Amino acid sequence: MAQQPDISVTIPIYNEEENIPLLYARVREALGKIGRPWELILVNDGSRDGSAARLDAIAAQDVRVTVIHLSRNYGQTAALMAGLDHASGAVVVPMDGDLQNDPDDIARMLARLDDGYDVVSGWRRNRKDAALRRNLPSRIANRLISAVSGVRLHDYGCSLKAYRREVLAGVKLYGEMHRFVPIFAAWNGARVTELEVAHHPRIHGQSKYGLERVVKVVLDLLVVKFLFKYANKPIYVFGGFGLAAIAFALSVLGLALGLKVAKGISLILTPLPTLAVILFAIGVLSILMGLLAEMLNRTYHESQAKPVYRIGRVARAPVNGDG
Ligand code: UDP
Ligand code: MG
Repeated sequence: MAQQPDISVTIPIYNEEENIPLLYARVREALGKIGRPWELILVNDGSRDGSAARLDAIAAQDVRVTVIHLSRNYGQTAALMAGLDHASGAVVVPMDGDLQNDPDDIARMLARLDDGYDVVSGWRRNRKDAALRRNLPSRIANRLISAVSGVRLHDYGCSLKAYRREVLAGVKLYGEMHRFVPIFAAWNGARVTELEVAHHPRIHGQSKYGLERVVKVVLDLLVVKFLFKYANKPIYVFGGFGLAAIAFALSVLGLALGLKVAKGISLILTPLPTLAVILFAIGVLSILMGLLAEMLNRTYHESQAKPVYRIGRVARAPVNGDG
């Protein structure tokens, strides 16, 4: 029987056959040095090369290793989600399977958690990827994510992070959202910090991503912001926009009437009345959509008995206490 793990390292694997043996050896060595019980969860995200067999061979000889084979390629975020769902350690450490992250950094991340943080996010300060195609867009994206989320990190995209397991409770990831987990955690009250980590060039295999990811990340950011800040009050967004559109429509109409009265310009000579009608209709529709969204939100929470809050801790005197 394997010991109850204290540290769960989880790694998504998609066509990384040449990296797997060294990856396992390096992770085992790094975790061995830390000296706390650990488990390694390798999630095979529908690899089409020899990864599956290599992973199975490792699982067969090491009880601390669990291999989860997804039925097809779902993408890195879903693979990470599968890893998180199966992790049982008090600390969960996701990282990449291509040896670009360095397992030797895990010890320093754990030390930061012990300093009282709930999330330690890696910062690949000296990133070893294509400068123009990868590093520059990611710099811009990181700035944007920081500004929108209000959580100040330099490198959301770094997979190597360390979480206290409690902050992951209830986290559900879609699309490219694995990079936003520290944001979810921070918004739910977690203490988040970052730590510079080593980054190595990819030696074997290919990166699975290009520029198109930036677009996905920006769209996901929009969804995250909306869902977290306004999912419980969609009418504030839709209704706010709707009221603004109606106010705009009324001022455009006022302008058209003003021109008519003051200068005798016929209403049909300017596009203003048309604009006013369009804006008014958009405003009304937006408010109606907000009401619809409010209904959806109630269905969401009430059909699944989902509370609108999350408990951090409950303090209560023991029943047989002397108080
Ligand atoms: N990965 C995955 N499913 C995918 C794409 C990637 O599990 O559909 C894994 C991949 O095997 C690696 C990690 O996610 O362990 C990061 O991928 P990659 O190195 O291609 O990303 P990059 O470092 O270029 O951002
Ligand atoms: Mg990589």
